[in-house]
Amino acid sequence: MEYEKMLDRLYTALPEKTKKHERFEMPQADSFIQGNKTIVKNFSAILKTINRDERHLFKFLTKETATAASVDDAGRLILTGKFSQEQVNGLLQSYIKQFVLCPECLRPDTHTVEKQGVKMLRCEACGALSAVKGL
Ligand SMILES: [Zn+2]
Repeated sequence: MEYEKMLDRLYTALPEKTKKHERFEMPQADSFIQGNKTIVKNFSAILKTINRDERHLFKFLTKETATAASVDDAGRLILTGKFSQEQVNGLLQSYIKQFVLCPECLRPDTHTVEKQGVKMLRCEACGALSAVKGL
């Protein structure tokens, strides 16, 4: 208990800079082609990193690739069709730029909020509230 309190104090005393990562590292898709399918091995890890709803990214990817997809028990995304890792990463990056990075400060510390039935992007870093189409 006392030790935890001490840690707490220590943490609070740290300058803001060391608490958060200064630069956002774009998550990279780890994918491979198997037969007629493309498997993204780290789909669930990517979702965790960008803190987004599985269905939203899923919908985006199936729309952009114009193909059917599913998520297996291991949390891997399985796309019908052959897509290179570069292609998958390109889509992932455009998703992140569109729906994850704050349009004001370009940091990834955002989450979605609903204002009068409209989903918006709230930035935890700068406090900006941005309307993002298709969110
Ligand atoms: Zn911001």
